[in-house]
Amino acid sequence: MNVARLSAFRVEVVKGHEQYRQVRLAGNRVAARVKHNGGGRVRDVVVVGAGPAGLHAASRLAAAGLDVALIEAQAQLGRGAICSGVIGEEAFSRFGLPTSPVLTAILSIQAISPSGKTMEHLGEAPLARVVDKAAFNRALGERAAAAGTRIELNQRVESIERNKRHVDLCVRNEEGERRVIKARVALIASGVNGCLNRVLNLARPRQLLRAMQAEVTLPGQEGSAPTRVFVGRSVAPGAFAWEIPLGHGRARVGIMTHEDPRAYFLALLRRIAPGLDGSCVQAGQKAIAQVPVGRSTAERLVAIGEAAGHVKTSTGGGIYYGLLSAEFAAEVVLRAFRQGDFSASRFSEFERYWRSAFGNELLTGYFARELAASLPDSALERIFELVNSRKILARLNGLLKFDWHRRALLATLGSLMLARGGNGHG
Ligand SMILES: Cc1cc2nc3c(=O)[nH]c(=O)nc-3n(C[C@H](O)[C@H](O)[C@H](O)COP(=O)(O)OP(=O)(O)OC[C@H]3O[C@@H](n4cnc5c(N)ncnc54)[C@H](O)[C@@H]3O)c2cc1C
Repeated sequence: MNVARLSAFRVEVVKGHEQYRQVRLAGNRVAARVKHNGGGRVRDVVVVGAGPAGLHAASRLAAAGLDVALIEAQAQLGRGAICSGVIGEEAFSRFGLPTSPVLTAILSIQAISPSGKTMEHLGEAPLARVVDKAAFNRALGERAAAAGTRIELNQRVESIERNKRHVDLCVRNEEGERRVIKARVALIASGVNGCLNRVLNLARPRQLLRAMQAEVTLPGQEGSAPTRVFVGRSVAPGAFAWEIPLGHGRARVGIMTHEDPRAYFLALLRRIAPGLDGSCVQAGQKAIAQVPVGRSTAERLVAIGEAAGHVKTSTGGGIYYGLLSAEFAAEVVLRAFRQGDFSASRFSEFERYWRSAFGNELLTGYFARELAASLPDSALERIFELVNSRKILARLNGLLKFDWHRRALLATLGSLMLARGGNGHG
């Protein structure tokens, strides 16, 4: 482990976020030297993209003693992040996540039908926490830097080429200057856009939902109010809409749909906050990957997180599975270094890991959401009635887990079919 590098990062981390810029500038000086030297230095791992998946993988690999650089296109960690920041309780304990970016906890979730019928899930303990996503990414960045990762901001990886001994990443800085970084392994954690996947002949996320979200003022809104989820073809075709109270009269309001979300988003705002002028609300739009990619590894390469489509298909949440996929990738990369084997077959072990851990979850969530999306609003109303009259949610106790939906989805489907049969509807 390079002690000088590690201690330098430690100093920068305690000085805080602004220091990342200095890291980058230092990075540029080093890069210029490398170029002058004929680009001889080969890093162990370069991670592309400083979202939760890339930052977590970098932490793990650097902590294990590898020479890790992380390249991020944005000028600040978390800048431009469009995300509700909802993270289940299990993730905090499983990954030891930082709690300083937590804004509030979610104690209950209420689903609302197109006509206003409700069903509510109330946990015995908080179900999830809501974070400031930019602060969350910064906290993960501090951890990665403290472990020894060199974080370079404002640098975009434009292309990656593989040769026998390493990969060459062509990186462009904000001034438009290009340089090449060499690494023995590259992790692609560049999120939903998948442009690097295409360059690398890895599959890219194909099935996408379109999301739109804003943080709005809702007078009287309490942080302890339930998080509300609105369903129905007329409300959010293909998926659902949400209102997440943050306390102090603020809430995150958003929608995820197969279609252009704008008109549905404005209708949602009118429903939630009739006094609010929707045209003045600043909302961000982003796609969400829906299905895991067909091939996420190749010789010396692994795609992780949303770049590999590792996103909960039932809800669009990508942080939990992104962190999990980062851990699997780190394990496989460390084994590759121990064995000196960077072949495609060594890295394909990553596919086996994630498929056996959450492949079925993603498939079940996808089909359940597609099934729900195919129903007319009248059928959804009937489902709300059945679930409430048969107390189906209460009977699912123990199966309802924030990040693992398969068993609860299958049990709900079974209960609904039984209830329908019992009502003489065949
Ligand atoms: C409206 C909305 C709400 C959401 N709410 C939630 C939620 O509540 N809970 C949840 O779990 N998930 C949520 N998600 C999904 C979640 O935000 C993502 O799935 C998650 O952030 C993916 O993490 P990642 O690390 O794979 O990629 P990202 O977080 O997308 O990070 C990728 C990084 O790579 C950088 N990058 C891209 N290309 C390059 C390049 N060529 N060179 C260098 N850097 C590059 C980007 O700038 C970015 O910083 C939401 C998404 C949306 C759109």
